[in-house]
Amino acid sequence: MQFPAGYLEHLQHAPGFDPQSFTKAHLETVPVSVRQHPAKRALKTDQLEQVKWCSDGFYLPQRPDFTLDPLFHAGAYYVQEASSMSIQKVLNDHFGNQRNLRILDLCAAPGGKSTLLASWLQGQGLLVANEVIKTRASILKENLDRWGYANVVVSNNDPRQFGKLEGFFDVIIVDAPCSGSGMFRKDPAAIKHWSEDAVTHCAARQERILEDVWPALKSGGLLLYSTCSYSESEDEQISRWIKEELQADILKSKSLEEIPEITVTTGGYRFYPDKTKGEGYYLSILRKTGACEEFDERQKMKNVPIPESLGILLEVPEDYLLFETHLGQVLFPKNSTEGLSSILKHLHVLKAGVLAGELKGKSFVPDHELAMSLIVDAGVPRLALSKEEALRFLKKEALPNRFGSQGWHLMQYEGLSLGWGNVLPNRINNGLPKSWRILKDLGF
Ligand code: SAM
Repeated sequence: MQFPAGYLEHLQHAPGFDPQSFTKAHLETVPVSVRQHPAKRALKTDQLEQVKWCSDGFYLPQRPDFTLDPLFHAGAYYVQEASSMSIQKVLNDHFGNQRNLRILDLCAAPGGKSTLLASWLQGQGLLVANEVIKTRASILKENLDRWGYANVVVSNNDPRQFGKLEGFFDVIIVDAPCSGSGMFRKDPAAIKHWSEDAVTHCAARQERILEDVWPALKSGGLLLYSTCSYSESEDEQISRWIKEELQADILKSKSLEEIPEITVTTGGYRFYPDKTKGEGYYLSILRKTGACEEFDERQKMKNVPIPESLGILLEVPEDYLLFETHLGQVLFPKNSTEGLSSILKHLHVLKAGVLAGELKGKSFVPDHELAMSLIVDAGVPRLALSKEEALRFLKKEALPNRFGSQGWHLMQYEGLSLGWGNVLPNRINNGLPKSWRILKDLGF
């Protein structure tokens, strides 16, 4: 691998940087890591090496073709670079078992941190996953639909628009767009975009993003700031800027400090590929000290009754409220609705809880979001597909009916749902949304 001109010199004073071992690590194979879905538990992990800083993270011995694994499509795991899984330990350190929190993941697509945060919340509190770029926001939505938690909102907004939600969030994650040097090994194409000017440009943008979103964090709230850059001007210097200009304390993570491979710096934690098994990453934990207006929700959302045809599909219908929104009728956990009205008013929302479905004529047609959610009752009819049938379903083919029964069924592979099938006497109509289908030729 050929680093950009001036690159190693640029990093020579970065804390913990060792040019020899760093360069050598760039010649080694990139580790492949996945994070399992803690509520689905379909991934066989007993033979896999665990990621030291995330209880759900595992390394795979080699990179499989994930497209050919129906479990990947069912959301049994998320393919995520290992270093960035470390926010799990930080959240455990700072919140213990407390989960009733409102979390914003500001730069969220494609959803690595957001799916981790959703797992960590265990369906409690609220996660707003935001992405400013529209095409990336729809990928984020798909990944969060697949992950299945109902206490999740996906929005497509510029950071500035969060200023309307003053003092709303307990935690904000800013996984900022950066110069990307930490990804050179995994994505060598990133090398040609790197320059000292790009680093300077990114640092200025990072400050702008942080300044814009800062009012939305409550006083005493936690900011997790991260990049995949090794440049001090995007890392420690930004942490210092937040501390001094926005008013915050830089905090430690006891658990990360117990892992000797992680480099502790004045601003936070560095992951170098020659020391930790993963790609380059910087993480800083800050607590807002400055005063802030307290969020005060004036308008409560009015819910509509859950019809019987929907209620019978839910495991605990009384835990959810049904709301009429611009997206259609959505189910939202009763305990997480505070603030939902302001979110829907001020943000461009692409997903809010779980889209239930719609009445077509006399019959209720359940939505794909409901099939992928964790709120469906175990008594809902389901069909166990073979691997080939599952892949055919994921290609959006109609399947022959070898099962006998009729009506809407969950199409499942190894106990996990892939979508709905409308079972007719001689075939099964495929309810998978067109945008979800596998395009690759599977050879059958
Ligand atoms: N957190 C994501 C994950 O774990 O999967 C990765 C996020 S990536 C490092 C940074 C994201 O910031 C990108 O999705 C990018 O589209 C978004 N972004 C780019 N410019 C931005 C801006 N001006 N404000 C906010 N987000 C921006």
